Order: sequence, then C-alpha cells, then structure tokens
Amino acid sequence: MTSHPTGGPDRLPQERRVVTEIPGPRSQALQERRAAAVPPGVGSVLPVYVTDAGGGVIVDVDGNSLIDFGSGIAVTGVGNANPRVAARVRAQAERFTHTCFMVAPYESYVAVCENLNRITPGDHAKRSILVNSGAEAVENAVKIARYATGRQAVVVFEHGYHGRTLLTMTLTAKNMPYKHGFGPYAPEVYRMPLAYPYRWPTGPDNCGPEAAAQVAGEITSRIGASNVAAVVIEPIQGEGGFIEPAPGFLPAIAEFCRANGILFVADEVQTGFARTGDLFACEHEGVVPDLVTTAKGIAGGLPLAAVTGRADIMDKVHGGGLGGTYGGNPLACEAALAVLEEIENEKLTERARRIGETMLPRLRALAARHDVIGDVRGRGAMIAIEIVRDPATKEPAPELTAEIARRCHAAGLLVLTTGTYGNVLRFLPPLVIPEHLLHEGLDILETAFTDHPTP
Ligand SMILES: *Cc1c(COP(=O)(O)O)cnc(C)c1O
Repeated sequence: MTSHPTGGPDRLPQERRVVTEIPGPRSQALQERRAAAVPPGVGSVLPVYVTDAGGGVIVDVDGNSLIDFGSGIAVTGVGNANPRVAARVRAQAERFTHTCFMVAPYESYVAVCENLNRITPGDHAKRSILVNSGAEAVENAVKIARYATGRQAVVVFEHGYHGRTLLTMTLTAKNMPYKHGFGPYAPEVYRMPLAYPYRWPTGPDNCGPEAAAQVAGEITSRIGASNVAAVVIEPIQGEGGFIEPAPGFLPAIAEFCRANGILFVADEVQTGFARTGDLFACEHEGVVPDLVTTAKGIAGGLPLAAVTGRADIMDKVHGGGLGGTYGGNPLACEAALAVLEEIENEKLTERARRIGETMLPRLRALAARHDVIGDVRGRGAMIAIEIVRDPATKEPAPELTAEIARRCHAAGLLVLTTGTYGNVLRFLPPLVIPEHLLHEGLDILETAFTDHPTP
C-alpha cells in the first residue's frame, strides 16, 4: 500500500501481521510499568500498547498489526488519525487551543451546533450545547428536561448504559463493574423493562407492543406520568449487548411520552454518526426525539459530546445554567466539522450498511453451525452475537465468550465483549475498514468457534 501524504488510512499497510505473542514482550513490559502507576480500576480489553492506527488496523509497540473491530468503542468511525481530522486539528492547534466558549467564543462551536441541529432527527427548530463526554451530555439532558418540565422523575431501561458519573451510573442498569460499591445512587430514577426480542417471555413477535404496554402501565402506576421529566433510552442498547428493541417499541414509547408531556431523550452516544447505517439510529423507525445526546463518533477521537434539542425546551434554561470549562474545545470542534464532511463525502452511512450486509449473513451461517450462538443482531456496523450454553435454556455463556475473544486477540483480531451477562461479542469496525480485512476478521472469528465448538 502506498503512503498517504497527509497520513490517515493509507499511511499504514492495511494488513494483519502477528509477529509476537499478543501482547508481545514490549507491551508486557509497559503493562508492568503501568501496574505501578495506574490502579487496576482502569482496565484494558487487550493490553497491546499502540503506536499507530488507521483504516482498519491498530499497530503495537512489538510491530503487530491487528484488525480493529472496536474503533475505540465506536469512536473512530471515520478511521483513526483520519487525514481530514488530523489536518484541521493541526491547523487549529497552531492558531489557538482554548479560550473557553463561556469566556470568549469562536465560530467552530457555532458551526458544529448548526450542523447537529440540521442533521439530527426532525425538522423543527433546534439548539445544541457542547460538552466533553457522553456522560456529561446525558447529565445535561436530564438537567434541561427537569428544568423545562418542572418534574423530577427519570425513566430508564433494563440493559441501559449512560455513563459512569453519579447520575449516569444511576441511570445505567448493570452493577458490575459500573456501580458496585459506588452508591448511594441519585434519587428519582426508575427502571423499566426493555423490548429484548431474544429473551422476551412470549417470543419476539409480540415483544414490541407487549413491552411498550407494560412500560406505560408501570410508569402510570408506579411513578405517575405527570411526575416524569424524561424517558432516556438508547435506540440500540450499546453496553447492554447491542439489543435492538423489538419493532414498534420505540415509536410507542415516544407516543406515550408525547401524550403525557414527558420528554423523550434518545441517547445516541454509541449509535450516532452513521454507525448503524443511518446518521442516527432513531431514523430507522422514524422516531423524532425531543432531546438527543451524542458523543463517541462525533469527532474522530477528540473528546466532544453534545445535547441537541427542541429550541423551546433548550431555550428555557436561565443564562449561565449550562456549560463547562472545556465544552466545545476548538480542537474538538474542528475535528467534528471534519467528521461531518467525511461522513457526507465518503458516504459513510452506505458503507456502514454494506458492513452489516457483509457481516450478518456470515454470522448467521456461523450460528447455524454452532448452537452456542443464540442470537445474531444489530444494524450497519454495530453487530453482535449472543453466546449461550444451550439454545433451549438460553443460559448465558460468559466464560466461552471470553475464551472466543481471547482466541481472536491471539490471532490479531481486536473484538470486544459486552452485555448484562457478559456473553455478547460485539463488532464495531471503523466504517472505512477495507473489505478484505472485514472478511479476514470474520475468518478468524469462525476459526475461534471451530477450535472450541462447545463450552
Ligand atoms: C459510552 C456511552 C455513554 C458514556 O459516554 P462517555 O463519553 O464514556 O462518558 C453514554 N451513553 C451511551 C449510550 C454510551 O454508549
């Protein structure tokens, strides 16, 4: 592969290359240094220490080149060190790096907000604010919703993930590792059932309407709809296991919210920016949220997040009520503007769809050969398989899931595990991954199952 003058995807050979055990000796040495400097509370899925990344590969200090099926958790959709992102960040870094938008503003912040207002679902008047992380976006969405409605209760869902701060870990469903020992949690948070097709007691067909009716009933009886400020939901559950709520569920919940003056907050932090084959996952069923939170894929790896919402809601909050020192940092804003250009120019929604069209049939064929794959699901470049001990009982198989991931890592394929029961392998390749690496990654996954067909 030729080198690319501005860096980025073509700068690195787009090949898998395993030249040591993984992690190799240099990574292992760094891991020892780290253990003396960084507490174990901060984990790493695969402790290979990175020197370069781009296109569909990550290169480590030992010279291994791994196929990337993680994108740094759905962040580098446009590719790592994307040339357009790198060029704009470099140019901005030489002009000014920070003034604080709340002290002395700059155009790029406004331009990012104009773009978010234009591309998020719905053609109503909108406003956006910029912050630093997905969790901070969700916190702000709740603050805004409470202020605008004068209500306090927040409804979230089983298998939901919204971050690690006090409020967002409260909104998050899973105890270990996110919440364990970190309480007491924030008050006025209520958890509802999710339309999880694979595990719905009466089967997937009735799941959407049944779950929605159950949620409406429970909100009414347990909380009182008039006390609820917001329903916060991921249109596809990310950390919860890439659960696509059954058809009809999201539109029914959105309709219930509208009828009861509850704000519908779509947490698109993981699903946004072309990842699912639409710009935003809500578009799949034509759901128009009142507020949308975004982060991860927004700025090609620079820390940026946003809340975008109906102008009448967003404009209610008093002057100075929203903000933060770094929110909408100029380097991150330039990166976001580059990402938006890249999504359009490179037709990344179509590429995400094609990734799904490549992966899903191969994974379904694999599932047909291996009973332990209970479910294959997801959309676009957000795809997962759920692994069980026995398809009849659907008992989760977290140890086998971890073993399959280990085998993939050893062969030079970076995959992530997830799910409430730790039994989901999730695939989040960069949207720019070359086709041959996508297939090679799937070959490695197939081999990992063939070597260990049963738990
Ligand atoms: C990752 C994630 C968050 C938290 O984002 P951070 O940037 O890690 O704070 C919130 N919601 C969803 C859906 C996420 O996937």
